[in-house]
Amino acid sequence: MKRMRRSQNELRRKYGVNVVRSVLQIHKMLGHPSPGALAQYLQQAQCEAEWATCTRELKCSFCPERSRPKAVRIARVPLANSFNDQISIDVFYIQHRGDTQKVLTIQDDHSKYVVDAPIKHESAKSESLGEVSASSPS
Ligand SMILES: [Zn+2]
Repeated sequence: MKRMRRSQNELRRKYGVNVVRSVLQIHKMLGHPSPGALAQYLQQAQCEAEWATCTRELKCSFCPERSRPKAVRIARVPLANSFNDQISIDVFYIQHRGDTQKVLTIQDDHSKYVVDAPIKHESAKSESLGEVSASSPS
């Protein structure tokens, strides 16, 4: 919400209070159309060009609340055909009692077998991961 207010203040400085207020009011009166659709409408209505530009940058506080959640994919084409065909690697951080630990995670894309290894220190040299913990999908 704070970010939304900062964004609105930046728009007011850029386009003026009246333009932002008018564009926001039109956006609400028309039932919260997408920025692109509203900008196109304003151009067709021969409003000043800055109104359309302002519309594209406008962040309405109500629109994200009423947007539908993104659909979760329940199935996908397999990326790998057998164990060790393809792996995915990422790094994440664990914070515990004020300490931050960097962890390397490796997942076999076929079996979803996961291996996590804490990264003690980083260097350009390759080295053994040492002791690792593994988990498999349940
Ligand atoms: Zn809206």
